Amino acid sequence: MATDDGLPALVAERIACPLSTWRGEPGRCQWCDATIDSPRRRTWCSARCNTAWERDHVWRFARSAAKRRAKYRCTRDGCTAERRDCEVNHREPRNGGGYGPGCHHHQHPGPDGRGGLEVLCRAHHAEVTAQQASARAAARRNLREGTDSTI
Ligand SMILES: [Zn+2]
Ligand SMILES: [Zn+2]
Ligand SMILES: [Zn+2]
Repeated sequence: MATDDGLPALVAERIACPLSTWRGEPGRCQWCDATIDSPRRRTWCSARCNTAWERDHVWRFARSAAKRRAKYRCTRDGCTAERRDCEVNHREPRNGGGYGPGCHHHQHPGPDGRGGLEVLCRAHHAEVTAQQASARAAARRNLREGTDSTI
C-alpha cells in the first residue's frame, strides 16, 4: 500500500500523526524527531520511542495500555461489572477497516474529538457495538435514499 507521493502508507501516517513530532526528515526518530546516532537504529532513536509509538498504534499494545489505564474496569459511570471484565472499544468504529497498525489505535480522541479507545465491560461493549451497527445501517439507508444525515 502506498500513497500518491510514493511513501509507504505507514510512514506517511507517522508524518501526519498528531502525537509524533517527526515531519519526515530522514535520519531522525519517527516519534520524537531526535537525530538517530546509533548505526543499529533506523526508525526510532531509542527503545523508549519505539514503545511509545506502539502504545498508540499497534493494537495489542494499545489495547493493554488502555486496560491498564482504566485499571481493568469498565469506564461507564456506575457500572458494577467485575474488575477484569473489560474489553477495549474503538470510539470510532473500524467498520471493517481492520486492526493493523495506525493512528486509529490512539488512546485518546484527537483535537476534533474523533477516535480514541474506551474500556468497557462485556455487556456495555455489546451495547455500544449494537448501537454502532444500527447507526451504520441507518447511514446506509439514508445514503440509499439520498439524504445523508451522517454529517
Ligand atoms: Zn525518539
Ligand atoms: Zn498516530
Ligand atoms: Zn460496564
